[in-house]
Amino acid sequence: MEISRKTFLRNLGLAAGLYGLGSLGRALAQAPTAAAPASSSSASGAAGSGRTEVIDGQEVPVMRATAVKNGTARWVSNGNGIGRRVALTFDDGPNNKVTERVLAELEKRSILATFFQIGTRVEAEPSMAKAVADAGHELGNHSLTHPQLTKLTEDRVAYELEKTQELIQAATGRVPVWFRPPYGAFRHDQDFQAASRGLGVTLWSVDPRDWAQPGADKIAQLILAETRPGSIVLMHDLHAQTADALPRILDGLMERGFEFTTITGLHGLPYGYPAGALPPGTNPAAPLPEGVPTGEPPAKVHDPAEPHLDGNPFPTAT
Ligand SMILES: [Zn+2]
Repeated sequence: MEISRKTFLRNLGLAAGLYGLGSLGRALAQAPTAAAPASSSSASGAAGSGRTEVIDGQEVPVMRATAVKNGTARWVSNGNGIGRRVALTFDDGPNNKVTERVLAELEKRSILATFFQIGTRVEAEPSMAKAVADAGHELGNHSLTHPQLTKLTEDRVAYELEKTQELIQAATGRVPVWFRPPYGAFRHDQDFQAASRGLGVTLWSVDPRDWAQPGADKIAQLILAETRPGSIVLMHDLHAQTADALPRILDGLMERGFEFTTITGLHGLPYGYPAGALPPGTNPAAPLPEGVPTGEPPAKVHDPAEPHLDGNPFPTAT
């Protein structure tokens, strides 16, 4: 069922109002031309068949979700560098051993970051997922099973995104507004999948390749050498070396005068509604958690005619 534009805009306004962003809410509610991600008529379309399939070595349920084939996602891979702000991001968690160490180092320095969590990891370690959220960090969607999405069917991609939104919300009370495709592998003809679920697409601009475990020294050196104002730094709260390197990374960046923010803090919200608010088509009156970083008002409302405002538009699969 499609929600009407009027209902959607009213919901946006209500969601914004819940955040005390009265002017944003009113502007959205009154703006007949406000661009919105496509209605998410598929948002509740996933249904279990009881069968399973194996994707990237993991047994997962066969699910079918009908995708909405319109909407164009906003992509970001770097910020504008105002105020020497950078966004640190951690993928592939939560991980009880490493995530806890990462959180401790961030907390010591009052730094906020963004964690792109994997749905199956959230399901395995929901209390650690919640600990990340409760510390005030932004949560992003990093797919359910970390597959190469460019190889999957539309139904499967829909399920990877949708189920992860559900799992993160169930564990933490948060609904991500940014998605990071595993390996950065996501095609132009797939990006309606993110947009139709209210997700912008986040890539990165600094990659220390910490997943290859080159040693804590190398990880820290590369990040300190390559980070510029506006950088989005890719790390993983999965490997001990990343946690080992983190004190040097954080202290080094602070010495160089960098400031830290989340992806939403760097870019505003991908479609102009508050971080943590529910995607279009779902109930905006549902309770929202305290302390969600709302970042700044979006620089502009997403315009489907002007896609890919900031980022590498169509990364090749790797
Ligand atoms: Zn990953």
